[in-house]
Amino acid sequence: MKKKPKTNKIRTIKHHKPNCNKISKLAIDTLTVHAGGMQDAYGAVVPPIYQVSTFRFKNVNQGVKIFQGTQKGYIYTRLGNPTIKTLEDCVASLENGVGALACASGMAAINTVFQTLLSQGDHVICGNVLYGATTSLLKNILTKFGVEISPVDTSSLKECQNAIKSNTRLIFLETPANPTLAISDISAIARLASNSSNKIILVVDNTFCSPIIQKPLELGADIVIHSMTKYLNGHADVVAGMIVVKDQGLFDKLRTVLNDTGGIIDPLQAFLVHRGIKTLALRMERHSFNALKVANYLQDHPKVKWVRYPWLKSHPHHSVAKKQMKAGGGMISFGLKGGFKAAKSLMNNVQLCTLAVSLGGVETLIEHPASMTHFHLSPKDRIAAGITDDLVRLSVGIENVNDIIKDLDQALTKS
Ligand code: PLP
Repeated sequence: MKKKPKTNKIRTIKHHKPNCNKISKLAIDTLTVHAGGMQDAYGAVVPPIYQVSTFRFKNVNQGVKIFQGTQKGYIYTRLGNPTIKTLEDCVASLENGVGALACASGMAAINTVFQTLLSQGDHVICGNVLYGATTSLLKNILTKFGVEISPVDTSSLKECQNAIKSNTRLIFLETPANPTLAISDISAIARLASNSSNKIILVVDNTFCSPIIQKPLELGADIVIHSMTKYLNGHADVVAGMIVVKDQGLFDKLRTVLNDTGGIIDPLQAFLVHRGIKTLALRMERHSFNALKVANYLQDHPKVKWVRYPWLKSHPHHSVAKKQMKAGGGMISFGLKGGFKAAKSLMNNVQLCTLAVSLGGVETLIEHPASMTHFHLSPKDRIAAGITDDLVRLSVGIENVNDIIKDLDQALTKS
């Protein structure tokens, strides 16, 4: 008689609980190394890459049970995959959520949230300063499906309050905002949202901070978004996104929409982001240390007209930043007295800093939002949002800060 194949080892994988920080009270820098741990059949120390599309069932009964959810197991990678789950559990743990959903990009994560929560006739209050594609998705795509949007300055609680209507379903904001670094008071807006009669859901894009610097769910937000392309991965070699959720019911709804629409991350990208997260705490500390030094240097430079950095006292929302952030992060925006002409010369003359969009990687990047990341916006909307033509955005890397300053200095002498 033919011997039966041995138990399917894949189903012996055990994942640690996502909110293990609550259980074991580990510090966040310990969690970046250990959260989302997986025990596979061979005792691998880091999660193996399950680069597979489909998983074998032992028999029909087992397949039926896994589909019905009465037995744990994997079916098909769009619906779940051990490497992806390891990353999801890790980020859920860092953000202190009940669960997380890894997506193909930050925009796929944002779109999944909108598709899950919004229906025709719903109203969204959104920041008037957001990453360009987020504004475009809201303004040019969601409105086609009968969703109404009100862009407001979310750093003003009054503007948020005045924008609430009987059909407001969701508030979406970035803090610090890309690229003006405007800060919105998460806990005050969360109170506003939860006290409203229509129980508005607050979604915070936490890309600029990462959970090392800011934890929106602990401040009252319902959902956190990450473009993991940025700090979470940190090495400018992956495009990926994440949704982290506080409530199990909301998580289940989002999971269903992501399963059905298919904007999932693939296992190799999930592995790379998980590897990147292991050094997240170290990197955020260095990004913040370097950025504060660079911001101070720029502030004192005679050719610099203005500097925006949350940890500078001159930032108009400095006190809110201090209340909800643990450090200033790695992003700076600034303008030169010589306007766009001088900024162009600066960007053309840097040698160590790289002229490129994106942010949050180990290397220092410089770019011009009005003509690059935020070019979708009309000049009127850009001005309303404070994205002036002279604004230069700097993503300060983890190089030796003296080298970054030396490079900016030599480029500024030519501007
Ligand atoms: N959110 C913010 C704040 C961003 O800066 C970006 C991209 O730059 C996104 C979302 C979109 O992320 P992705 O490019 O991974 O789709």
